[in-house]
Order: sequence, then C-alpha cells, then structure tokens
Amino acid sequence: MKRKNKQTPGKKRILQGTAGFVAASLVVIGIYTTMQPKKPSLIEVPHKEVHTTGFEDARRDARQRQSFLNALVNKDEIPYCSSIVYDHDGTKIIDYYKKQMARVSAPDQKDYISIGGTLESFKEGNYDMKVASVLELTEQEENSPIFLGRRPFEGKEFAYMNSKDLRAAIITHEGAHLMQHAKGVSFLNKIRISEGVNKGRIRHQVLYAAYEYDAHMQELPRLLSSEFNVSPNHLNIVKVKFITTGLLLKWSASKGSTLEQQLVQEVITKSSSIPLLQNISIPSEFYNQPLRP
Ligand SMILES: [Zn+2]
Repeated sequence: MKRKNKQTPGKKRILQGTAGFVAASLVVIGIYTTMQPKKPSLIEVPHKEVHTTGFEDARRDARQRQSFLNALVNKDEIPYCSSIVYDHDGTKIIDYYKKQMARVSAPDQKDYISIGGTLESFKEGNYDMKVASVLELTEQEENSPIFLGRRPFEGKEFAYMNSKDLRAAIITHEGAHLMQHAKGVSFLNKIRISEGVNKGRIRHQVLYAAYEYDAHMQELPRLLSSEFNVSPNHLNIVKVKFITTGLLLKWSASKGSTLEQQLVQEVITKSSSIPLLQNISIPSEFYNQPLRP
C-alpha cells in the first residue's frame, strides 16, 4: 500500500463498527486526566513484505495477520490512509487514541468526542475494524491508520468472510470513515456536532448511526458495481445494515430534538440522491440464514 504525506489525499479507505450500530456506542471520553506522560507512539509501521499468506492461515496464526493485511491491500491506494495496523491486544489503537487526544487543547473533557466507542471496548483487541477518529481533529485532511482487532480473524460473525469481502470492507467502509475524518461529514460540521452532543441535543447513538449510514452510503454502491466481487453473503449483510441503520435514524428522529431531526433529514436526503441506493432489497433466501450482527 502506498502511503501519502499528511495533507495529501492518499488513497486508502475504512470499515468501522462492523459489529453493528446497536452494540456500538458513541461516547464522550474524558481521557485528559488519565493521560500518560508523553512517550513514543506504539504504532508500528507495518512491514512492507508481501507474500502469499491467505485468510485461513491468518485466522489460524496471529503472527501472520499483519503480513496478510499488507498483502491484501498492497496494490490499493486508499485515500487518507496512513497504514493498516493489526492490533492483537488493543494497545495500538488505545495508544493512538491517547496520542490524538493529547493534541486537542480544549480544557473541557466533554470536548473529547470519540466516534464509535470507548477505549475500554478495545481492550484485549476484541474489536473489528476502526478508524480512530477524534472529532476535534476532523476536517483537517489528515491521514489516519485503519486498525484491525482480532474479531475479523476470530469472531464467528466474520466466519463467512473471504479475503475479497475483507478487502472490500477495509477499502470501501473503513475508507469512508477515513474520508469522514479527513473531510468531515456533509450532514453537520464539527462545531455543531460538538455543541449538539455537549448540550444533549444530539444523542451519541444517533450520531454514531448517522456516521455509519453515511459510510454505508459510500460503501454499498461500490459493492453493487461489482468492483470488488464480494460474496452474496457480504453484499446482503451490508444491505441489511444500510436498511436497518436508515430505519433506526428515521425512528430516532421522530423522538429527537430539532437539531437531531435536521441531522437525520440531511443524511436521508443525501442517500435518496444516490441512484444505486434506491430500491435496495434483500433476496428472500437470505432470511432463511441466521442473521449476523
Ligand atoms: Zn463503520
């Protein structure tokens, strides 16, 4: 994978919160008081070696996962991606988050808004994929890493995945989250998001669902265009997430503040302007399979 300098749109992309918006929560993290003294970043630059480790090998042997990921996206350019990092015990993403939060000078702890979860949720590497975005650092065209925890290799909910599905998830979904971090989101700027959350006018779950829906909006048309040749299972799972997240947003808006209603309206309107996202349906045979999160 090719890395680009900060400020330069590279070309790599994300997959965030694959475990689903229901389980995920968007939380204000008051990390400032627990911040460690400055220490070198523990984010390691992945080795650039490329060999033929397959997904099954990587599932069996954790030592092969980083080189498998390197090879998986070796020929791809993902905009605003600095690296793909396998994070076996969760320490890499937690240290990265802390480092990012230390860059934010806002004295009010509530200003630390992390998209998609608490630091606790990454312990032991028990997470799927994540772009570690801190709201205050968004909209600055910065490159970020995509972190992968153990779940894509060990979780039952990922057992169906083949390497094409995983590659597509990294590039299209996590890539969309990278874009959100670098450029911001169209539905609300970061100042209004921060104010809205801190004043209780935007609920965390609704904001997180909006980010997820926005990412699915970018992901799904690319999967439908056959660019990635993903499995029918993967395509249907992404469709289900897109549909259910949209329903959740609409339902939430009916009970939310005026600001939340505006936010949801913006997101839904954007999706209705994308031709490939009209009339998304799921084949009936898919209902006969156990639904994965
Ligand atoms: Zn996501």
